[in-house]
Amino acid sequence: MAGKRVLVTGIGTFWGSRIAQQLESREDIDVVVGLGTAEPVLPLEHTEYVRSDSSYSILQRIVHATQVDTILLTHSDYDHVGAAAGVAQVYDAREVLIGPEFRAHAADNSAADQMLRSLEQIDVPPRTIARGDHFPLGRDVEVEVLWPPKDGVARQPPLSSNDSAVVARIIYGGRSILVTGDIQDAAERELLKHPDELRADVLIAPHHGSSESTTEAFVAAVSPSVVVSSNDRTLTGKQKRLDRIVANRAKLFRTNECGAITVRIGGDGSLQVEPYLKRPVRIDAAASTAGKPAPPAPGS
Ligand SMILES: [Zn+2]
Repeated sequence: MAGKRVLVTGIGTFWGSRIAQQLESREDIDVVVGLGTAEPVLPLEHTEYVRSDSSYSILQRIVHATQVDTILLTHSDYDHVGAAAGVAQVYDAREVLIGPEFRAHAADNSAADQMLRSLEQIDVPPRTIARGDHFPLGRDVEVEVLWPPKDGVARQPPLSSNDSAVVARIIYGGRSILVTGDIQDAAERELLKHPDELRADVLIAPHHGSSESTTEAFVAAVSPSVVVSSNDRTLTGKQKRLDRIVANRAKLFRTNECGAITVRIGGDGSLQVEPYLKRPVRIDAAASTAGKPAPPAPGS
């Protein structure tokens, strides 16, 4: 495998075929491991596609050095936890984090319930985090948990699984990323009671970029330079509305156009977005969060 790359991806059928088309001319990629539940449409020479139920032993064989420190499971929906136990095992995760209502929702969701049992078996029982928690992630990275509150379980009516998703700011180099899971208007409305806490350079668009009545105010409060949205090929009306909300405020990156989207933050506060299928985009707005402006990036 010397000189070759291994691409590990959670693609489903649509992305499998699109990425397969892109990869046909790439000689540097030798093995593609698809963790999705459907195989890509186009077969590729020198390429191995593996379904999720049999992929982990192969992952272990080909990806030796990679380790994941922390996995945050925002909420218990299958599209957010489907491969979590396997990834935790293969990548020797140090810890897995969940919100206070995760277990209650997992009780009605056999995939999430099984995932929790698997985590117990591999001795990585999830740690529960809630609003007010503030902790380091390795060196120089901080996490501030904004949602849900600790007492959410007792709330009437109870929060939906989507609205119980963990919302957290991840802060590094004077920059921050706001992770929002699948929250909708109930959670957005509560979070908007403290708009100053929401400020972030990068917003992971709530609920796959499906906008609610509160989303315009939410995006305005976050005031991001970059919005990342994980969505399907065909956008719903609520997802298209996000285009109009974000329009002149920020750059919007969608997974159906970009494939995997990597946000790279330098220790100096430099911020770059690397869409898998497009050129990297350098974001040059000055770092503006976490209380200390970063020095200007070289060349900006
Ligand atoms: Zn989702």
